[in-house]
Amino acid sequence: MSERILDFLRRRQTDGPCVVVDLDIVRDNYAAFANALPDTSVYYAIKANPAPEVLNLLHELGSSFDCASVGEIEMVLATGAAASRISYGNTIKKERDIARAYALGVRLFAVDCVEEVEKIARVATGSRVFCRVLCDGIGAEWPLSRKFGCDPAMAPDVLERAHCLGLEAYGVSFHVGSQQANLWAWDLALGMAADVFNEMSRRGIELKMVNMGGGFPTRYLKDVPGVPSYGEAIFHALTKHFGNRLPITIVEPGRGMVGNAGMIEAEVVLISRKSSDDELRWVYLDIGKFHGLAETMDEAIRYPIRTPKDGDETAPCILAGPTCDSVDVMYEKTPYELPVSLSIGDKVLIEACGAYTTTYSTVGFNGFAPLASHVI
Ligand SMILES: *Cc1c(COP(=O)(O)O)cnc(C)c1O
Repeated sequence: MSERILDFLRRRQTDGPCVVVDLDIVRDNYAAFANALPDTSVYYAIKANPAPEVLNLLHELGSSFDCASVGEIEMVLATGAAASRISYGNTIKKERDIARAYALGVRLFAVDCVEEVEKIARVATGSRVFCRVLCDGIGAEWPLSRKFGCDPAMAPDVLERAHCLGLEAYGVSFHVGSQQANLWAWDLALGMAADVFNEMSRRGIELKMVNMGGGFPTRYLKDVPGVPSYGEAIFHALTKHFGNRLPITIVEPGRGMVGNAGMIEAEVVLISRKSSDDELRWVYLDIGKFHGLAETMDEAIRYPIRTPKDGDETAPCILAGPTCDSVDVMYEKTPYELPVSLSIGDKVLIEACGAYTTTYSTVGFNGFAPLASHVI
């Protein structure tokens, strides 16, 4: 727990839920990635938390950036970062957005099919492209669907097409699934990447780069391996699959860079039961799925919650948000243990909320303000 955040919250005058992000923790996280993977460039996936203060800090520390849209590219350029530090990592782009990114200086693009390669060849002449391959995401608490990436067997055709159209067939990318607690996931994925390198080499095209994506976890309720363990596992997998011909490598941490740097303060609005013999209390907070806690969808991410009554006897609760929408329930399938003495009006602290909260908050569903954010 960050003393700086607690201190900020003690002095806060405003009402309503908010997230507070401690830049010292982001700085430590960046250093952890840089130390654990000294030969790998860090491209922060800015969608996790695009607060200008976070982007400015990471720019100062020497980070590069993974962007999903022209809007995100402009946010990164506003820090003063050079366009050469940006990867346009979304495989689904309008041709005119590719052209705008190219006009802004971006020369590195993700693809996962020949149709996208053709768009890039038309409006971003000579750029580097890397092909994203599908990963099964086993072991990830927030697994990704089949939306991004192609079968690794198709990747050589995609990259060869890029080469024939005058682009630089630069490399391969994957994402092992977000909140990935399985250190072996990168080994499997790097094996696939090496197969693509070998096949391209047979076709006379030498790829250079492997983009190892994000997936580095944040500690929520369950313990997770630290960044050094990931660094070691990745280094071993790289040497196993590429021998002494190591490619240029990049990682794109989002959650792992900012998740543990943020804390939400929320308030208990109501505690009630559905019948006189109901065993479970319903605890309603002034924040829910629509105002920052979207990752409780399917109860995937279980945040640690602190209350002023911690240490008292606990009992399971159903935890829900404040809106008039019946899906605004965070934890019901697996109820959440909270103190029996918890009362209406108590403030609770939801930890590890630095990633995927502010930007997952609606602009005003039900008249509730978007999640307020303070970066200290
Ligand atoms: C979202 C995303 C990331 C970040 O993923 P985390 O699991 O938050 O680290 C990295 N790369 C790409 C291409 C992404 O879309």
